[in-house]
Amino acid sequence: MIRINEITDKVATYIDKPDLELIQKAYIFTAQAHLGQTRLSGEPYLSHPMSVASILADMQLDEATVTAGLLHDTVEDTHTTIDEIEGLFGEEVADIVDGVTKISKMSFESKAVAQAENIRKMILAMAEDIRVLMVKLADRLHNMRTLDFQPSVKQRLISQETLEIYAPLANRLGLHRTKRELEDLCLKYLKPDVYEQIDQGVASHHTSGQAYIDKVTGLITEMLKENEIKGRVAGRTKHRYSIYTKMLQQNLGLDQIFDLIAFRIIVGSLKDCYAVLGLIHSIWKPVTGRFKDYISIPKANMYQSVHTTVIGPDGERIEIQIRTEEMNKVAEYGVAAHWQYKEKGKKGSNRDAERFTWLRQILDWQRDLQDPREFMASLRIDLFQDEVYVFTPRGDIKELPEGATPVDFAYAVHSKVGDQCAGAKVNGRLVPLGTVLKNGDRVEIITDSHRNPSRDWLKFVKTARAKTRIKQYIRTEERARSITLAKEMLEKEGRKLGVNYAKALKDGHIHKLAEEFSFPSVDELLSQVGYSRLTPRKVLQKLYAMLHPGEKLTEKLAEDQRKAAEQPTQAEEPAKPKKGEGIKLSGVDDVLFRFASCCNPLPGEPIVGYITRGRGVTIHAHDCTNIKGFEPDRIISVSWEGVEDKPYPAKIRIVSRDFKGALSQVTALLTSDDVNIHSGSFQSNVDGNAVMEFTVEVKDLQQLYGVLDKIRLVEAVTEALRVS
Ligand code: MN
Repeated sequence: MIRINEITDKVATYIDKPDLELIQKAYIFTAQAHLGQTRLSGEPYLSHPMSVASILADMQLDEATVTAGLLHDTVEDTHTTIDEIEGLFGEEVADIVDGVTKISKMSFESKAVAQAENIRKMILAMAEDIRVLMVKLADRLHNMRTLDFQPSVKQRLISQETLEIYAPLANRLGLHRTKRELEDLCLKYLKPDVYEQIDQGVASHHTSGQAYIDKVTGLITEMLKENEIKGRVAGRTKHRYSIYTKMLQQNLGLDQIFDLIAFRIIVGSLKDCYAVLGLIHSIWKPVTGRFKDYISIPKANMYQSVHTTVIGPDGERIEIQIRTEEMNKVAEYGVAAHWQYKEKGKKGSNRDAERFTWLRQILDWQRDLQDPREFMASLRIDLFQDEVYVFTPRGDIKELPEGATPVDFAYAVHSKVGDQCAGAKVNGRLVPLGTVLKNGDRVEIITDSHRNPSRDWLKFVKTARAKTRIKQYIRTEERARSITLAKEMLEKEGRKLGVNYAKALKDGHIHKLAEEFSFPSVDELLSQVGYSRLTPRKVLQKLYAMLHPGEKLTEKLAEDQRKAAEQPTQAEEPAKPKKGEGIKLSGVDDVLFRFASCCNPLPGEPIVGYITRGRGVTIHAHDCTNIKGFEPDRIISVSWEGVEDKPYPAKIRIVSRDFKGALSQVTALLTSDDVNIHSGSFQSNVDGNAVMEFTVEVKDLQQLYGVLDKIRLVEAVTEALRVS
């Protein structure tokens, strides 16, 4: 096992007056916390956080990050709380540990490749402090290094996840060394035979042995010396995973890949980079199309270097990379290196300012970038505040704008889910629909086919999709209502004037009328009346003139008034709603009707009538599943009017984690809302959940949903729905 002194010694080499006590204190704490725990290798668990801290020290990160590395598993795997960490090691360390713990709690193992980019973005968004990612990557690196001890199924799952999520993440952050090592380890576990083949192939290749590396290194070193340029040379075999992808992409055998080796020349100044490039090209012939200047145009992750491929001393192609010491540091350690330059000696500096510096720097560097997509891709890392990533119950990820609510989420899943959204659970708990979602939340929508979008939702939804759908619904709803209203007004008014609206509609007169008013349809004419943009009187006057050419309605009205004055009767009373039933059937008079027991429609909810044979009209909820089987021409439209204060039955179902407490709370809520319980049945399930079903009596839909909303807020209740 690595000793703590090795770690503190390392830190002391790159930090001025380091706070080594903090690291030592964390070491003692973590050793006690993990006492008695072992890894699968049989080693004490402590060896893992020690290795992680050591990797972080190799990346030359600050004391807080190394300390967090030592503590990173204490909250997840021991009884330690984040408050304890904060009390002992301060807020900065605690925040990093907290971030790592949050990411570790999520498993991305079995996610499809298509989701990988979203997951990476979510991790970036969750890690408000970039150091959280450094610790997470160091953690993953050590776990990959010790993967041998895991069962083979686990090896494959973890490798797949590493390849899809963590290696690209390391690349994004410019941690090339980490990325290479992770990729090679993944290849080893995912394609052991390929890994073995490449390993042996590289070793036996005549231009990849150590002797060849030494020879070329020697030639370049000599050349530098002759030209009085200070610098150093290193040769290394390309990492196995990149050889593998090259074989795969270009369909090549191992022996067809020439530049298995890359040489790196590190020089003192930018000017020297180009000088050395010229010298190399003067002794070895450059391969056309292989020269790349990432110094004048850096990569999105801040990588800078010039690359060239030349025909080397034995007639073999070799790749040569030339860069300065500083550029090399960025290439090896990416953001971490950058961090180092910026923050050296600046203790306790504001993290937001640091992030801002970093962002501004990236913006500066990328102003010259040619590919706007690359620019945007890297920019997203920094502008993560605008987005929130949440999980569906199945573990899929949805990207939403900041401030988004469960209703936005519901519409993102499916417009129907949005339209019927009746409640929401976040991380297993019921919450109000206006709750603002946070990164990593697991969101579950409770739908109810009786529910419709509410105007209130417009006050809190953030996505354009949700807004559009809700407005659309309200518009359609209002229009439908206005058309119904117009029909009623025209019928009522028409009866007074002796104009039969229903007949005129049947005879096609209303269509003609709509044309005369230049409306595209009868519905449009009606909606104009319903919205009070056109008076029923005006419509009827025209209709009258059409039906009785030569006569004028005004004359008839005067005549009627005279007659009415002569013999006052109540013969022309407007139709009254049917007494005792509380509803009015539009277009049909004096028929028997009753409420369907399958759906028990409530006052206020959309309903339809069905003309039965010999039993009058049955009233169903408009979305009652039985309607599908009905003969369409026997379905009539009906609406509520003059509702009486009589109770209507409704069935509700409540699922709760415990029974006794929930039952008394639920019944108390029902009673306090004046909801009468007609009957009830209860059942305990094997999973410990209790299911209660009540038939209750309510005045209307509003009362029912009002009390259901309250029941949903009872702690133990996981579900409260109206059932039919
Ligand atoms: Mn760990």
